[in-house]
Amino acid sequence: MSSISFINPLSNEGQNIVKQSADLNSVFERNDDLINIVMHSNRQTISNSEIIPETIGDLAINRIKWYIERKNNKDFNPHDYAYLFNEDIVEYDTIAFHMIAQALASRFNPNSREVKLFVESQGFLIEDRLTKLMANERSEIVEEILSQLLTQNDLEWTFLKDLIASKKLSLCDLVLENGEIILDREEFIYSFGENFTDRSPDRIYDILIGNSLKELILNKMIMQASEDYIKKINTMLATVEVHPMIEQLADLLAESISETMTKYSSYYGSAGPGSMKIGKLVREAFPPCIAHTVDGVSSGGRNDAIVLLLTSFVSYARLYPGIFASEGRVKVSDIDSNLSIVMNEILPLIYEAADNCTPPLFEDQPQEKINITSKLGFGMHEVPDLENEGETTWYTPMSCEKIQMHLPQLCKKNKDCQKINNPLSYYSRKRWILSKEGKIEDSEEKTEAAE
Ligand code: SF4
Repeated sequence: MSSISFINPLSNEGQNIVKQSADLNSVFERNDDLINIVMHSNRQTISNSEIIPETIGDLAINRIKWYIERKNNKDFNPHDYAYLFNEDIVEYDTIAFHMIAQALASRFNPNSREVKLFVESQGFLIEDRLTKLMANERSEIVEEILSQLLTQNDLEWTFLKDLIASKKLSLCDLVLENGEIILDREEFIYSFGENFTDRSPDRIYDILIGNSLKELILNKMIMQASEDYIKKINTMLATVEVHPMIEQLADLLAESISETMTKYSSYYGSAGPGSMKIGKLVREAFPPCIAHTVDGVSSGGRNDAIVLLLTSFVSYARLYPGIFASEGRVKVSDIDSNLSIVMNEILPLIYEAADNCTPPLFEDQPQEKINITSKLGFGMHEVPDLENEGETTWYTPMSCEKIQMHLPQLCKKNKDCQKINNPLSYYSRKRWILSKEGKIEDSEEKTEAAE
């Protein structure tokens, strides 16, 4: 049978691999055994040395890159990542999984885009790995892993309530009898067999349950467990120092995810037609209140943080940071005549932040997209359109005083907040400092200045 941890790196087997074989000090050391496994993976592309992971750190980064590329790249070549489906890699793959979890937990909010990508990538890896197994091996490993995950004899639906609450699973996906989930063929036939006179109950079982429902439950449970694992590490790291290698991996993951996502549509639930890319906004210059909002707001104030605070800040920061020094009224199209910056940079960032919220803003309040359009000055419409400009007013950014009054949980002042009365002033000043220190590219500043 296949290795359990190849599908579930959080299993006892996976935890033992990490305990016995993980060595944080060697994360970025060349690993000849790993390279050998990769090079000898069936159908692996070997002509391009850049795609071959040479260290466990590379493997961790490529694990996430694989998912972003697979999801977004129309010319994706599966052979570039064939090693991810070679079971010989299981030990390194399991260690890479745990290291990614630690690195992301140390750097990002559990609701962040980065953590979501990791959790989703695990779900897709499980799906793809199962698909590549022979039918009998596939059902054998699914049964084995489910028997480890489903620890109740009589499986009440409430056992899966977290999956249902987070919409990973729907109650409609399940077959229930008196609140109990039916997965077993004999049990299904015993409970419902008499109800089917014109079709074989066995056939109905295969359609309603079969391997597909078991695999769906297994997949979503491991995704949920990965999410919970990151939350747990995140809490623990409040009292424990992060290992320098994990910090280094977090830096590289952040850089790689940002680069790879920027190559493709950066908001993966687009508001309008076409793809939208996050562009020249300098995130490093965001004040704490804005950085926290972009990471996702999970308590009260979520809607105001996205619709009032972030929408006005991002739009003015990108298009007209000097608003408070100017006298006349200005419209978005005075600066962004065809709305390409709004569509490609401003809305993607706002939508990304909305998606990072708990619960994601548009999932329970899709109408807030209209309020965002309205605050940009384009009336009560789903997407900004030049024809509607002027129907509402382009809302100016909130002052620090207002933020501290209405959204106090977001104001986590740092030393740069001194003598600042508006997040926009913070941003302009910080961007200027970063530019002088050579920490942001000159071309970025030149482009901004030319606009
Ligand atoms: S002082 Fe102003 S800029 Fe700084 S975090 Fe608070 S609200 Fe934001």
